[in-house]
Amino acid sequence: MIKAAYPGSFDPITFGHIDIARRASHLFDELHVVVMENKQKKYAFTVEERMEMVRECLKDVPNIRVESFSGLLAEYTLKNEINVVIRGLRAVTDFEYEMQMALANKEILNGVETVFLMTDKSFSFLSSSLVKEVASFGGKISQWVPSYVESKVFEKFAR
Ligand code: ADP
Repeated sequence: MIKAAYPGSFDPITFGHIDIARRASHLFDELHVVVMENKQKKYAFTVEERMEMVRECLKDVPNIRVESFSGLLAEYTLKNEINVVIRGLRAVTDFEYEMQMALANKEILNGVETVFLMTDKSFSFLSSSLVKEVASFGGKISQWVPSYVESKVFEKFAR
């Protein structure tokens, strides 16, 4: 059985993340979408809020499990017998950081491979930061996130 983990902030989840998660779920027996909680990072949504949005958007995919984790991804993969780490690639700007992480993880994670899935062309510019920025000015975000997420984002920014 090949188990993969798709880690990320998902702050909030977008159609770009959803596309990667759905495609990865077809490639592996089980996919863990891992909502990471990194104390150094500042998130707009709590880990519980981020997880709830991810769950809602991917609830129809039977082999996806949504989990949260605080700490090194290596620990998570070891504990859950994960063989593959999935990351999405957008523009060349993602490449340098992702390569660094993949090489570092290769040193730390014995036997775990990182697999990159190329973004869909319609989401190549899409990021959670863009969604938050546009929403903070009251702009339209329904083309980038499902309506459930859209309402949560506007609820957050209305405060
Ligand atoms: P992180 O803080 O780990 O970068 P993100 O939630 O920003 O968390 O991204 C998680 C993963 O999803 C990363 O591999 C990122 O490249 C990928 N990703 C984010 N947005 C998109 C998108 N629009 N298309 C494809 N992959 C994406």
